[in-house]
Amino acid sequence: MSAASTARRACVALIPLVLTLFLAACAAGGGTGQTETTPTHAAVESTAPSGTAATSSGSTAPSETSLSGTQTTGTTYAAASAGSPGGGDPYFASAGNGGYDVLGYDITLDVEPDTGRVTARAVVRATALQSLSMFSLDLVGLDVSSVLVNGTAASFRRDGQELKITCPQVVEGDKQFSVEVSYSGVPKGIKNGRGWHRVDGTIYTFDEPQGAACWFPVNDTPADKATYILRISVPKPYMAVATGVLTSTESHGNLQTFVWEMKDPMASYLAGVDIGDLVEETSTSKKGVAIRNYFDPKVADQARRAFARQGEVVDYFGTLFGPYPFQVCGIVALNVDIEAAMENQTLILFGRNKLDSGVGFLAHELAHQWLGNSVTINRWKDIWLNEGFATYASWLWYEHTDGWQGLQAEIDRSQRELKASVGQILSDPGAGDLFHDFVYLRGALTLHALRLEVGDDSFFRIMRAWAERHKFGNADTSDFIALAKEMAPQVPEADLDSLFDRWLNQPELPSLPASRAH
Ligand SMILES: [Zn+2]
Repeated sequence: MSAASTARRACVALIPLVLTLFLAACAAGGGTGQTETTPTHAAVESTAPSGTAATSSGSTAPSETSLSGTQTTGTTYAAASAGSPGGGDPYFASAGNGGYDVLGYDITLDVEPDTGRVTARAVVRATALQSLSMFSLDLVGLDVSSVLVNGTAASFRRDGQELKITCPQVVEGDKQFSVEVSYSGVPKGIKNGRGWHRVDGTIYTFDEPQGAACWFPVNDTPADKATYILRISVPKPYMAVATGVLTSTESHGNLQTFVWEMKDPMASYLAGVDIGDLVEETSTSKKGVAIRNYFDPKVADQARRAFARQGEVVDYFGTLFGPYPFQVCGIVALNVDIEAAMENQTLILFGRNKLDSGVGFLAHELAHQWLGNSVTINRWKDIWLNEGFATYASWLWYEHTDGWQGLQAEIDRSQRELKASVGQILSDPGAGDLFHDFVYLRGALTLHALRLEVGDDSFFRIMRAWAERHKFGNADTSDFIALAKEMAPQVPEADLDSLFDRWLNQPELPSLPASRAH
């Protein structure tokens, strides 16, 4: 996601952007309460208790309660249990779920842009990480009409943002299973502008960190990446675009269905859908990256100017972080105001109000395709690995085009701004300050401090290895520190431990180290 500060040379009055997100509240908001639906054609009554809390970390969180019991069908639950209703993220206790790992989402959305109504079906393929008697998906609002598990009707109930599903038959550990959820309604955004939005005939999603559950049932943690198929039907002449590659367009009377496939793993907060009056523009970067953008005709000229160097930036980052990771590189520019740009995987979202923000702003979002999208955090507290890294990448772009002075100007400006941020801890900024300026600026300065400490050769080896070793995967701050030690053996480990501790864990803004000659 962009911060205002990434846009050097943007508008004159850059008010420091503080995207204060009180998203803890979203976990309880928008749910449909405690309703229960039991399919009439399958008498299923589970004795599995519903969970109350996550007990361990990760999408691999095991059950919170073991049980032995029987279903009314007589099937014995041999140690089957309920998957945890939380993914273990300390910032968002209800987000994500335990007991399974999603392989792919196949989501069909019939959208009526004029009313906002969506009629949808989501098929979620997953692997059980334990023997499951029940499990949860995250879904905020919307009416669920049926749930099938492996093709058999399942009972379910809503509890806040949890869609708690009782398996009609125990799903064995390590086995793949499918869940089909039919649902409908008018998706609502959650607090602070996240989720599904409909403005003046334009629809877009902006999900970081917790908006995806507003429009599809999801294991809403970045730790559980998956493939996606989005089949979106809209009336003509609307166009529906999404993250991934357009694999087919079909016409059915007045409706058109656009099918978008993301075959590379994607975190749920990076899945994007945009609907409106859009024109496609395709090109290829000099180094062969396929570019496909979608612009609202009303902002197309402005967007073309704003993104004129898209291919050049992507090619430059390819020299730093390895080849562009995905099949296509795209941007959608909409004729609505959006508070920030968002790096949705292969289809960056820009509102018209961000089109004059400058090439550094664009570079930040493009860098996220490697740093955040291909290499993804497990826990939101590690957000500096996204925002600090993308910010530093945009500084590297300035260094590339303007020389050392271009980089130095960013360093000086950041140090000035950060003097107001004393007391904040980069390694644990808190759920409300995930997208605070200090995460972006201090995160970028942390990388610069590392660069000065280890020297350019080691630093750029570290950055490239980071993007290549964790490509399409997840990684934590501890992985980055270990990689830095491995790639810079000439620096005593104690020195690196000290550097990272000062920059990540201490409230005071450290001085940059003197450059070492290596
Ligand atoms: Zn960002």
